[in-house]
Amino acid sequence: MTNDCIFCAIAAHEIPSTIVHEDDAVVAIRDLNPQAPVHVLVLPRAHLASAAELDHEHAELWYRMLRVAKHVAASDGIAERGYRLVVNVGHEGGQTVAHLHMHVLGGRQMTWPPG
Ligand code: 5GP
Ligand code: ZN
Repeated sequence: MTNDCIFCAIAAHEIPSTIVHEDDAVVAIRDLNPQAPVHVLVLPRAHLASAAELDHEHAELWYRMLRVAKHVAASDGIAERGYRLVVNVGHEGGQTVAHLHMHVLGGRQMTWPPG
């Protein structure tokens, strides 16, 4: 747990959020400001500032985050239609919360390139 990290606090249930999945390593929550009909954030319980901190030791964690994203897509009914997984890294990458998280976006047609 890192002081002043909002996602650490959410994972520890210190700040309320709509949790759609949680296990010993991974938590998935609905985004407070959804950008699509389905917008879920998949995050590790452990604090990692961004995807740039992922290393060999996190291989299983990363796989588990992907697996949770897949399950969220299925349970929210967008698995067949398709969806987008996004990980913003750093300032110009658009990252605003410095705790690794994967966006699961779907329920509408995505466009490319992203803004
Ligand atoms: P980033 O810009 O870092 O890739 O994504 C951060 C996301 O976290 C944004 O989509 C933002 O709406 C969401 N967010 C920020 N604060 C909170 C919060 O307190 N609760 C929830 N559920 N989502 C949040
Ligand atoms: Zn954190």
